[in-house]
Amino acid sequence: MSDSSGLIKDLLDRQVNPVRQKCSFTQIKESMSEEERKAVENAESSIRSDTGNGRAKAFSCTWLSDVLTKHGHAISASTISRHMTGRCGCE
Ligand SMILES: [Zn+2]
Repeated sequence: MSDSSGLIKDLLDRQVNPVRQKCSFTQIKESMSEEERKAVENAESSIRSDTGNGRAKAFSCTWLSDVLTKHGHAISASTISRHMTGRCGCE
């Protein structure tokens, strides 16, 4: 009968610890100062509102990943892209 109580405990633990995990993009933002985080969020909306295609795009996930990586926050463009299209574990 101890197996059964172990099962119940594991099921309860799962509720306490959320399954979803924040992606590294959010983790990087949370490690930043308020001012830096706002600047990154501005950059995100610039990317969203940039209607250019390919090389015509001034703001892109590649651009943001280059800037963040240059300043010590290593992150790939695909991680940013996943976050911005809601395919990561955030929210
Ligand atoms: Zn995310």
